[in-house]
Amino acid sequence: MILPNSLADLLLPWYRANRRSLPWRDTTDPYRVWLSEIMLQQTRVETVKVYYLRFLQALPDIRALAECPEDKLLKLWEGLGYYSRARNLQKAAKKIMEEFDGSFPPEPELVRGLPGIGAYTAGAICSICFGLPIPAVDGNVLRVCSRLTACREDVSLVRNKKAVADALLPCFPARNCGDFNQALMELGAMICIPGGVPQCGVCPLASVCLSRPDELWREIPVLSPKKARRREEIAVFLLRHADRYALRKRPGTGLLAGLWEYPSLTGLLSPQQALDQAAAWGCAPTALLRITEREHIFTHREWHMTGYEISCAVMSDRFCWAGFKELDEIYSLPSAFRKFDETVDR
Ligand code: SF4
Repeated sequence: MILPNSLADLLLPWYRANRRSLPWRDTTDPYRVWLSEIMLQQTRVETVKVYYLRFLQALPDIRALAECPEDKLLKLWEGLGYYSRARNLQKAAKKIMEEFDGSFPPEPELVRGLPGIGAYTAGAICSICFGLPIPAVDGNVLRVCSRLTACREDVSLVRNKKAVADALLPCFPARNCGDFNQALMELGAMICIPGGVPQCGVCPLASVCLSRPDELWREIPVLSPKKARRREEIAVFLLRHADRYALRKRPGTGLLAGLWEYPSLTGLLSPQQALDQAAAWGCAPTALLRITEREHIFTHREWHMTGYEISCAVMSDRFCWAGFKELDEIYSLPSAFRKFDETVDR
């Protein structure tokens, strides 16, 4: 892939005049840039704005993040999903405290060596915070570059992603490398958009774009079909004693590892089987109060959940029993289980 030499000259003035005002813009503080980039993975900008500001208020620097109790950290992350991002943030913060005296390392190899930081995030941090000419190739950049060059390779493949990164290297300006990366991403987010009609009429790259003629952008980028998501039936137990509900931690590996949940099992149960299971857990069920159904979509699977709200005479010590206030303020439940919040009686 060969990108036009004039890329930076065309993009930078447009970016300066049109960029969105976002809470993580106008800072070169690596902690803030790093946090925003991790939060923005798989998550919409509007959602991240709220979480980002709340997170920084609670944990204003790397030391505070490194020392934060895990339950508090996960509570701050509750609702964002992909909780391994939060755990990796903290692992990396601890590493920075131990190995780099609390200062974010400015060398690209050291940044790449931090937990949870891949090529894209390292490129974003190193260019924005340290002014280094390192590409940050996300989905937006892949789309813009494929359309610019009318490239019909599947850009989600690792080798093609690398080809885009290599093609960007000679295009960096002498200064403002961070703005250059952000300008490409911003163009992809605002003008050369996915799943709709790109705004070629106001695009600063229209004069050098090979996909504008004949509307080739309709077929580019080329992506391999995604695998169908696996469907799973999940039984969720809303075991209730007075105004407390049973919670437990999920296993340490696998989906939603180590997070709190309403006790759940894979499979479809009859009402009697659900009551029998509650009895087997030592909760002495007295009545099945309600059955509700919810769905939750993960990247590679979808959960079809049936919730059994069961009143219990005994608070079995195999569970932790939380009141409403604790459910709201202390325990972080993944969004899949929060879908039952509105069904429980308060
Ligand atoms: S001219 Fe159109 S297709 Fe080409 S980069 Fe700009 S918005 Fe995308």
